[in-house]
Amino acid sequence: MEILERVSQGNCPKCGAADIIYHGSEVQDESIFYEANCGFCDAMIHEHYDLKFSGMSLFLENNEVKEMEMGDTIFNQRRKTTDETKKA
Ligand SMILES: [Zn+2]
Repeated sequence: MEILERVSQGNCPKCGAADIIYHGSEVQDESIFYEANCGFCDAMIHEHYDLKFSGMSLFLENNEVKEMEMGDTIFNQRRKTTDETKKA
């Protein structure tokens, strides 16, 4: 079994064993943590991750889904622009 000397994802921060048993997760505002314990020394562990905004899925009335990213034009503004283009 691999024993690490520095804290790393998936390794016990107490003994270094790569023997983490995950049994739940909890989402907080901008982060998530996994509840776990070490299968080697039985330490209780929360493994934390920061959440980063990566986009939105907009569900429209016609069952269409628009995948939108940070900085994309708001859907209703986009339609306005399209209508103006049609008139011109
Ligand atoms: Zn351990």
